[in-house]
Amino acid sequence: MRMRAAVLHHPNEPVTVEDVELDPPKAGEVLVRVVAAGVCHSDLRYADGELGEGHWPIVLGHEGAGVVEEVGAGVTHVAPGDHVAFCFVPACRACRYCLAGKPNLCEVVAEHGAKGMLMDGTSRLRLVDGTTLKHGLRTACFAERTVVAAGGAVRVTPELPLWQAALLGCGVVTGMGAVRNSAGVQPGDSVAVLGCGGVGLQVVAAARIAGADPIIAADRVAAKLELAAAQGATHLVDASEDEKPVSTIRRLTGGGVDYAFEVIGRPETMRQAWGAIRPGGTAIVVGLAPLGVDASVPAIEFLSDKTLRGTYYGSGDPAAELPGLADLAVSGELDLAGVVTHFDTLDGVEAAFDRLRRGEGARTILVIDAASAGAPTLTDGGMR
Ligand SMILES: [Zn+2]
Ligand SMILES: [Zn+2]
Repeated sequence: MRMRAAVLHHPNEPVTVEDVELDPPKAGEVLVRVVAAGVCHSDLRYADGELGEGHWPIVLGHEGAGVVEEVGAGVTHVAPGDHVAFCFVPACRACRYCLAGKPNLCEVVAEHGAKGMLMDGTSRLRLVDGTTLKHGLRTACFAERTVVAAGGAVRVTPELPLWQAALLGCGVVTGMGAVRNSAGVQPGDSVAVLGCGGVGLQVVAAARIAGADPIIAADRVAAKLELAAAQGATHLVDASEDEKPVSTIRRLTGGGVDYAFEVIGRPETMRQAWGAIRPGGTAIVVGLAPLGVDASVPAIEFLSDKTLRGTYYGSGDPAAELPGLADLAVSGELDLAGVVTHFDTLDGVEAAFDRLRRGEGARTILVIDAASAGAPTLTDGGMR
């Protein structure tokens, strides 16, 4: 079928919203009418060519929600009409990582997904001239419709408006998982969060839900610190004015936090996260750095029992956790609306990228099907 999608033809050129061809779902796949999609910094890393060669032409978008339209043979966990959030790691459930309880590291997803293909190694997307299009992170949801592997469409309660459900599959899973699964934050643990964008705000929210205290949020943008306070940060560090944010965090906690989360993807802030933790503490890098970037820390400090660790997509079982996160949002425990600063249409992808480049705002939600999104009145990309 023919539909509109945001295509990145080549990095460092604007994405274009154009007609493309989408093939029907094969066995084990699901066709979803995309209702809303979040614009994540990882999409921008692709668009700016920071993740290496060979990723284009591609339909970007890996955080979104929609309504199931058609299922391929053998798919029984969802049916047409179901509300689903996308999970960009549709784990095979059979490889050594999946069997070892680490489906976020699924080998089959890693093998085909890195090439921009679905789980059988092929694409359902073509330009109108027939050129094969890649699927952005197995999801390709900056489009009116998409075909994903069955495990990539996770049923969520219809009580949650789809514009909010759109946030679950990247920012929420990643942020909540970093706190719950990677760190295992316990009540009373001290936490610092460096970077308060779409994912960082979810880390703050997750730390609050875990009972962390204090929760120190740092960012260069005052407006994002306000959003962090609303999500539960107890202390705010304006990194644009504070020349020594690490000293400030250490002073506030009498020698460093138990857990510091870096949610930007820059070597400087990774070093700051390391510097902000106490002896025996853990620094967790959540942010996605450009390909080829190295990070370093003073190695002598490994002797103080410090841990530097990575995390990917929440380090748990994202597809299994998504429905519970949706319920948490319905209950009001998780304030998804509070991280959305802008709404736009599918044509607003490039404008959203520009805001990310400027560090402006947190999440932009692209409302692709306004009638089903349940979103507040659309603006022309302006602040809510
Ligand atoms: Zn993302
Ligand atoms: Zn697997």
